[in-house]
Amino acid sequence: MSEYVIETPPVVGVPVAGLDAMFPVRRVYCIGRNYAAHAIEMGHDPDREPPFFFQKNPNNLDPSGEFPYPPHSSDVHHETEMLVALKSGGVNIPLDQALDHVFGYGLSLDMTRRDLQGAQKKMGRPWEIGKAFERSGPCGPLHPVSAVGHLDQGRVELKVNGEVRQVGDLNQMIWKVPEMISYLSKYFELTAGDVIMSGTPAGVAAVEKGDVMVMSIEGLGSMAVKVV
Ligand code: MN
Repeated sequence: MSEYVIETPPVVGVPVAGLDAMFPVRRVYCIGRNYAAHAIEMGHDPDREPPFFFQKNPNNLDPSGEFPYPPHSSDVHHETEMLVALKSGGVNIPLDQALDHVFGYGLSLDMTRRDLQGAQKKMGRPWEIGKAFERSGPCGPLHPVSAVGHLDQGRVELKVNGEVRQVGDLNQMIWKVPEMISYLSKYFELTAGDVIMSGTPAGVAAVEKGDVMVMSIEGLGSMAVKVV
């Protein structure tokens, strides 16, 4: 069967630095509280508990450089995260083979309607309304491992209107990239096209229309995203 009853939705593509080709996105996994200082600022114990994940939708990723302020919130926060893109996958991936599945790394923002997320948390309800809204994942181009290698350290920074808001280092991630891949693969079948947003350092805060967010990760360059 090769026909569909409605027009097929487009494949979501993230640009790849240096190539005239896109990385097709299948699923978006996001890890919560992966930096101790951020866990503390959100009122949680930074001890190493099992990681937890939520998801955004593939078409929430947005490389346009603009972030439309979403409706039904007056407290929209930036979370500065590294994007990990998989070129292959599997189940029960051993730790020492996890990095073999990485296509590349990029910059991303886990934009969050914090007021809505907070209300959901209080009621013990899922977070999608706070996390998985339209264009909630501004991102930059992916940098292939063949060009940048694997990143386990490097300064992570976000400035808003020139003022530093978030600073951290990839080496402060509680759950490292291989651990996240291995852990996820115990619960989900990972495949080519899956991406992981690897958690934010401390300093999350609200943005307003007109703000310009400039995020950078050492080794991956920078990107500017304007709140419109
Ligand atoms: Mn996040």
